[in-house]
Amino acid sequence: MSNPPEPDAADRRAFRARVRAWFVANAPRKGTPGDFSAVHVVSADTAEDYHAQETHARTVTGAWQRRLFDAGFAGRSWPRDCGGQDAPAWQDDAVAEEQAAWGVSTKMFAVALEMVPAVLFGHGTHHQRVTYLPPILRGEHVWCQLLSEPGAGSDLAGAQTKATPTDGGWSVTGQKVWTSNAGCARYALLIARTGGKDTRHAGLSCFVLDMAHPGVDVRPLRQMSGAYHFNEVFLDDVFVPEAGLIGGLGEGWAVLKTMLASERAAIGGGTSARSATQLAGLVHRLGAADDPAAQDLLGAAVIRERVLDLLRSRVAAGHDVAAAGPVTKLLYSEHARLTADAAMTLLGTAATVTDDPLAAPWIERLLFAPGLRLGGGTDEIQRNVIAERGLGLPRR
Ligand SMILES: Cc1cc2nc3c(=O)[nH]c(=O)nc-3n(C[C@H](O)[C@H](O)[C@H](O)COP(=O)(O)OP(=O)(O)OC[C@H]3O[C@@H](n4cnc5c(N)ncnc54)[C@H](O)[C@@H]3O)c2cc1C
Repeated sequence: MSNPPEPDAADRRAFRARVRAWFVANAPRKGTPGDFSAVHVVSADTAEDYHAQETHARTVTGAWQRRLFDAGFAGRSWPRDCGGQDAPAWQDDAVAEEQAAWGVSTKMFAVALEMVPAVLFGHGTHHQRVTYLPPILRGEHVWCQLLSEPGAGSDLAGAQTKATPTDGGWSVTGQKVWTSNAGCARYALLIARTGGKDTRHAGLSCFVLDMAHPGVDVRPLRQMSGAYHFNEVFLDDVFVPEAGLIGGLGEGWAVLKTMLASERAAIGGGTSARSATQLAGLVHRLGAADDPAAQDLLGAAVIRERVLDLLRSRVAAGHDVAAAGPVTKLLYSEHARLTADAAMTLLGTAATVTDDPLAAPWIERLLFAPGLRLGGGTDEIQRNVIAERGLGLPRR
């Protein structure tokens, strides 16, 4: 397969300059009073406070997504009838990279902006694309993923949530767990069993589930950092119309593979992968720029990030990179952990003071780092996929 032509370097530079000029005029700088880059990091002692903070985060980041859309910088590579501009994919990448340097966030829309388009462009109908994608670009609808279950995490083929045919669609009953942003999501990508109990992969189908429908019960879960991030979602006879089926009946596994590949690539390449830049900020704030030990820690972080960037550019330029999603996700989860560790070393005793403004974001990152090794498929599962699909090793 021949690779697509590289974009002209002058085009790339001109586009970058235009995007950067817009950010300079419109976005708050990191660390200044208007900075809302951490607004999605909800840390609440009660479920009510969690809901209030999440609603606030959705409002703030949704308004920012709307500004990006109005400026013509949202979903540039998406087709026009889906709200985009038919521009080349590298432009989306350039906007994301510029955005990561500013005090802004669209993280509440991660599933909506990264996973939903991959799924709908790969498997959805034209009607589904033109219905669901434009409101996402305008920052109107947060989405979540209803995949994991108490007995089916890594082994999603064992999912037991059941979709039974009913008048005009399906009735869905079951329990999901570890669902990020379920409390403020308008829609979910749902994996449910439409075949018999033991049909495994062949018995799964994928649906769009309207989270506002009767029978959806979202219950927040508290994690070790003290923050609520996840939810359990109980589904009791929830109606999904016929038009909500994505791909064919029993084709859920193929849809899921697309969804997980885009999630892994998004986690590995998302704006959160820019932690070396933030570590550099910490080094300067601590006045440690001339300290050789700090330079070593920072240098290692910059190299890890550069490797991630190079991998992402190869993928964005259309090069065929085997198991790219699992490789970037694995590199990123390691990068996040090592960079948080480096920050703890630099902060020293300040790292034990949770309300120290310099330390607080890094403590949160440190406590969240183990979660990154699990979300979107665990490190062990990424290694299995790299071995089997990337290196062609035999399945164990
Ligand atoms: C930050 C975060 C966000 C998340 N968001 C969502 C979400 O929005 N929606 C959603 O549906 N889920 C979400 N999850 C859940 C996540 O997808 C699961 O936790 C993950 O897939 C692992 O499943 P499990 O927790 O059931 O662990 P298990 O599958 O029970 O795994 C337990 C351990 O066994 C290992 N293991 C299992 N199978 C194998 C194997 N074949 N080979 C080698 N080792 C193996 C695993 O690596 C792990 O260490 C999220 C999780 C996190 C941490």
